[in-house]
Amino acid sequence: MKPSVLCWALGVAMLCAAAGPGIGQAAPGGVQPPAPLQTVPSDHGVFVVFLGTGMPRPIPTRQGPSLAVVVNGTAYLVDAGTGAVRQAAAAFSHGIDALQPNTLDIAFLTHLHSDHTLGLPDLMLTPWVMGRTAPLHLYGPTGTRAMVDGLEHAYAEDIDLRVNGLEHSSKTGHRVDVHEIQPGVVYQDENVKVTAFAVQHGSWKEALGYRFDADGRSIVISGDTRPTETVVQACNGCDLLIHEVYSMARGGNAYFSAFHTSAVELGDIAARARPKLLVITHYVGGDKPNPAQMLQEVQQKFTGPIIVASDLDVIAP
Ligand SMILES: [Zn+2]
Ligand SMILES: [Zn+2]
Repeated sequence: MKPSVLCWALGVAMLCAAAGPGIGQAAPGGVQPPAPLQTVPSDHGVFVVFLGTGMPRPIPTRQGPSLAVVVNGTAYLVDAGTGAVRQAAAAFSHGIDALQPNTLDIAFLTHLHSDHTLGLPDLMLTPWVMGRTAPLHLYGPTGTRAMVDGLEHAYAEDIDLRVNGLEHSSKTGHRVDVHEIQPGVVYQDENVKVTAFAVQHGSWKEALGYRFDADGRSIVISGDTRPTETVVQACNGCDLLIHEVYSMARGGNAYFSAFHTSAVELGDIAARARPKLLVITHYVGGDKPNPAQMLQEVQQKFTGPIIVASDLDVIAP
C-alpha cells in the first residue's frame, strides 16, 4: 500500500521520491522515483516545504536547517538556518504564495545552535526590508530573547537608517515579538495548534521538538536530539515524523551519541512512534554521505515508508 503522501520537487535538478513501505529515496537496490509533478500544491491544505536540510557543514546543495509548515496559505517556520529566506523566495517563485518573503512573520526555534539560527537576522530584517509591517512572532527556548536583543543591537544603525532615512521603512516590521516557551501548547490559531516538547540535545539546557496539528493532520518535528521518548509520545502514530539522523558510517563518538540520533537508534524510535511517513532531514553524513547505508541502518527496525528530504522538497502528509 502506498502511503498517502504527495511529494513535489521545486528545484529543477531535484527529484523528490515518494517512497513505498520500507523504501527510501536512495534505498538499496534502487527505487524508481516518480516523475516530479509539474504543479505545486495549492495554498489550501497542509504541507511541509523543506527550506534547508543541511547541518553545520556548508554543503552547497543543503542550506541550514529550516522548514515551513504551510496551512491554508499561511507559513509557520521551524528554525532559521542559513538561507531560509532565500529558499522561501525560491519556493514562492515556484508558486507557493505562503512563502512570499515579506509575509513571513511567525517562526518556532527548536534550539539556539548556530546552524539553526544563522538565518534569524535575515528572517528578522529581510521580510521587513521587503515590506513587512507586522513584527516577527518568534517562539523559542530560554535565551531566544537575549539572542534577538543582541541582533537588534548589532543592526541598530541599519534599522535607524532604513526607518529614518530615504527608504522610509516601516517602524514596526523589524520588531520581534519574542515568546520564550516551555513544553506544552505554545500557539493556536484558526489553522494550527502547536505543541512544544522537550528533547535531549547534549548539554543544551533547553531544546524543543514541535507537533503541529492542522486540519486533522499531525506533523512532528524532532529538532536536534539524541533518542528521546518524548518524540515517540508526541508522534504516537502521527502522519509525518520529521527527524534528524547521523549514520554510523559517519562514525559515532561521545559528541554524536550525546547530541544526535544514529540511524539505528532512529529505526527504534520510528518503530515505536509509528509515523505514517518518516522524513529524514539534518542528515549528518560526513564528507562522503552514503544515504543507502543510512537507510539500511534505519530499516533494521523501522519498516514503514521513509523519505530522505532534499532542499525545496514539498511533502504533504
Ligand atoms: Zn543542528
Ligand atoms: Zn543542534
